[in-house]
Amino acid sequence: MAEFDVDLFVIGGGSGGVRAARIAASHGARVMIAEEYRMGGTCVIRGCVPKKLFVIGSHVHQEIEDAAGFGWTIPGATFDWPTLIANKDKEIARLEAAYTANVEKAGAQIVKARAVIGDPHTLRLSDGKTVKARYILIATGGAPNHGMTIAGIEHVISSNEAFHLKALPKRIVIQGGGYIALEFAGIFAGFGSDVTVIYRGDNILRGFDEDVRTHVRSELEKRGITIITGATVTRVDSHGKDVTSHLSNGASLASDQVMFAIGRHPNVANLGLENAGVAINPHNGGIAVDAWSKTSVPNIYAIGDVTHRSNLTPVAIREGHAFADTVFGNHPVQVDHANIPTAVFCQPEIGSVGLTEARARAAFNVVEIFKTTFRPIKATMSGRDTRVLMKLVVDGLTDRVLGCHIVGDDAAEIIQAVAIAVKMKATKADFDATMALHPTAAEELVTMRSPSARYVREAAAE
Ligand SMILES: Cc1cc2nc3c(=O)[nH]c(=O)nc-3n(C[C@H](O)[C@H](O)[C@H](O)COP(=O)(O)OP(=O)(O)OC[C@H]3O[C@@H](n4cnc5c(N)ncnc54)[C@H](O)[C@@H]3O)c2cc1C
Repeated sequence: MAEFDVDLFVIGGGSGGVRAARIAASHGARVMIAEEYRMGGTCVIRGCVPKKLFVIGSHVHQEIEDAAGFGWTIPGATFDWPTLIANKDKEIARLEAAYTANVEKAGAQIVKARAVIGDPHTLRLSDGKTVKARYILIATGGAPNHGMTIAGIEHVISSNEAFHLKALPKRIVIQGGGYIALEFAGIFAGFGSDVTVIYRGDNILRGFDEDVRTHVRSELEKRGITIITGATVTRVDSHGKDVTSHLSNGASLASDQVMFAIGRHPNVANLGLENAGVAINPHNGGIAVDAWSKTSVPNIYAIGDVTHRSNLTPVAIREGHAFADTVFGNHPVQVDHANIPTAVFCQPEIGSVGLTEARARAAFNVVEIFKTTFRPIKATMSGRDTRVLMKLVVDGLTDRVLGCHIVGDDAAEIIQAVAIAVKMKATKADFDATMALHPTAAEELVTMRSPSARYVREAAAE
């Protein structure tokens, strides 16, 4: 009898786990993958995909408004939330089926059960079975935080529930200043809700470039979203259909719905990590891994959000693929986590890659900033009060472009292409040598001639 039932047991059928299972199986490994909820994981079921569908749907409102300046009259446009939800659910079910089929086609076996580690080679499944595996891959993802327990927390929803609301809230209070909070703020505002964002810090989007933070805040406010900073929700009371959020600054706000999007934690609880001696990273609470995604136990690996490195779908997929190639494909690969492009699908969108101005100035002796804000061509006819921001952060000594930050329509699409140049260590001279494509917003990236600021680090100047 074989020593192990399978060569690889993957815990979690999300972005990373599915990729790892498929690639390992294609390398000839006997693979089993456990999923306790729905195949596809956060991204497909209650993350990137349904979120983007909601963003697209909510943006139609703005397109209808903007159409008037171009001569269109669109009478009687109405929006029906249940139709949106039903069509979204249909698409997510289609994707879930496609994920399931692709895993099975690759030769991996799916078990619809919760898996817990019993010892370094044993998995206990919620259906009562036990499986012996040569390798274990933990790809259990993350889950929303609700923060400190406050009175009335049971009336608060997270992004998970926001995808299944029975009705569009007329008024919604969203606590959080990160990308999920702001994307949902834009979604609900686009569909017509009255949106208030509450954030404890002094400005939204911590970690993003300061110019981006300021610009986006003003754009969201222009679109009618109220942003209250320096405050938290301390209590939530429910009175029938109404909920009241009490804030730390003494104010209270009535709404139909309260949503918290204040961060996510890695799914490490009750996984049996202690049974195998898998260590937690004390700095971020995720599973501690090395550059090969190997945990403190040599035959157990972890990838994706559960490691809390860079919580994005393409990163989880890359990590899963690299793990499978390394362990089963005789092709060792480490994932390069530098210069990962990111987007925030708030409205207007943010696209960002590389260093912020603050990070560059902390790390480089001379930093040059090229920055422009301008009215996009569409706004000249629609009359919309909006501006695009484009910013390049450049190493003043080598001319290398260290970062690029864009706020405006299609920023995410633009930044994906710019990320190739940044990854290739393109210089500002390379950008300048590239012919502009007219008329676009992105042409500004290759036509910014003079720096708007140049910073020389004091130590370097001495
Ligand atoms: C609202 C929202 C919007 C997002 N938008 C974006 C975006 O625009 N772009 C982007 O790149 N990323 C986005 N993300 C992040 C992205 O979804 C995650 O980074 C990605 O899904 C991580 O993949 P993963 O494989 O690590 O984990 P997940 O996709 O979370 O998969 C983990 C799976 O493991 C299962 N599981 C957990 N424990 C067990 C167990 N013990 N046994 C069996 N199964 C288990 C879970 O049910 C889940 O299906 C978003 C996330 C959210 C919440």
